[in-house]
Amino acid sequence: MSGKHKARKRFGQNFLTDQKIIERIVATIAPKHNDNLLEIGPGQGAMTLPLLERVNQLNVIEIDRDLIKILAAYNKSNLVINQGDALNFDLNLFNPPIRVVGNLPYNISSPILFHLLDNRDKIIDMTFMLQKEVVERMSASHGSKIYGRLSVMMQAFFEVELIFVVPPESFDPAPKVDSAIVYLKPLKSCKVGDIDIFEKVVKAAFSHRRKTLRNCLKSLLTQEQTGVDLSQRAEMLDIDTFITLAKDYEKQY
Ligand code: SAM
Repeated sequence: MSGKHKARKRFGQNFLTDQKIIERIVATIAPKHNDNLLEIGPGQGAMTLPLLERVNQLNVIEIDRDLIKILAAYNKSNLVINQGDALNFDLNLFNPPIRVVGNLPYNISSPILFHLLDNRDKIIDMTFMLQKEVVERMSASHGSKIYGRLSVMMQAFFEVELIFVVPPESFDPAPKVDSAIVYLKPLKSCKVGDIDIFEKVVKAAFSHRRKTLRNCLKSLLTQEQTGVDLSQRAEMLDIDTFITLAKDYEKQY
């Protein structure tokens, strides 16, 4: 199958070929017949075909028109193919709440995650293949060197779990790095107030990793305006402390 279509680097195309891994991903998703499933980047259907056997209907979003032709040729009555860019697709079109899955194009995985973060109220859960290094950053704990903006933004809104690691040989063409399956579920009681303010504070806090919060946040907050000790570096703060910091900044508005 992959012989017919030449993988396009600009669309981050690394097609899954390892059947055991595909089965493990489908088992992780554990789809039920009535699930409202959306797959981002179905490619040539490596995950799509086994998923179609388990659900009454599957929506997919694919950007590459050549792949759309391959998918359409399967003639599956329960497959709804949407051609377009997952980065600006309106999720309301899929009759939310939805479960989102996909082996994401690695070159745009962060913007896709942030687009989905903005749409979290429409999402039941998400199961994605991403670069292992990205999943490790998403799930890192405070105090670790890789804990940063992505860790805080994801963990403030989702339960984040690295499920298993996938080696490069499971794909054609093989990526240069390890991949991993991550499971994300919106938190039932998210404590963040204004998301734009939260994002602004988190971004500023990590703008210079070696500097203290006092330095990074100097245009936003002074030590007198918050109970959080600003002599620390951002990587030492847990999620709840970031939420407190953002709320203290919000009070200054
Ligand atoms: N799911 C397939 C598999 O596992 O073999 C393909 C995975 S491949 C890593 C990523 C897929 O996302 C490709 O099919 C690519 O064309 C598609 N893609 C890339 N950018 C996209 C975008 N902005 N919106 C939708 N699909 C995109």
